[in-house]
Amino acid sequence: MISKRLVDAINDQINFELLSSYLYLSMSAFMEANDYPGAAHFMRKQAEEEVEHAMKFFKFLVEVGARVELKTIPGPEVEFPGYLDVFKMSLAHEKIVTSRIRDLYEIAKEEKDHAALSTLTWFIDEQTEEEENFTNIIARLEKFGGSPISIMMTDDKLGARE
Ligand code: MG
Repeated sequence: MISKRLVDAINDQINFELLSSYLYLSMSAFMEANDYPGAAHFMRKQAEEEVEHAMKFFKFLVEVGARVELKTIPGPEVEFPGYLDVFKMSLAHEKIVTSRIRDLYEIAKEEKDHAALSTLTWFIDEQTEEEENFTNIIARLEKFGGSPISIMMTDDKLGARE
């Protein structure tokens, strides 16, 4: 039987994954408004991935017979300082997610919940990937000093995300 403490923490994380999706969708809208179709596409895909993360936790709670409780999602920023800043903000956001996943893992450990630990191991690996992706995009942009041509070239590449 899953503990109430863990169910509450996972419900909070479902909310945070959906909040992440909202943030990336807002970043996509910002990129669309500023004529960067590649980053707009990339962020839309990222937003979809965050919904998948929320659903993975949703399905986990259903499978263990716990109750999913959806909460309010606050509205994200609408305007962002610039192209590079969007990716720096994304990396900072993913670092918060990583620390939240690690906290969840610690709770599951304390509760000796092996099923939850198994699911959370997937998320720990996923967070390594998320941070690496944003770190690489930032490095690519900074390598060329954030010049317009570096933004154009990066944007073309980001538009190819599947
Ligand atoms: Mg996520």
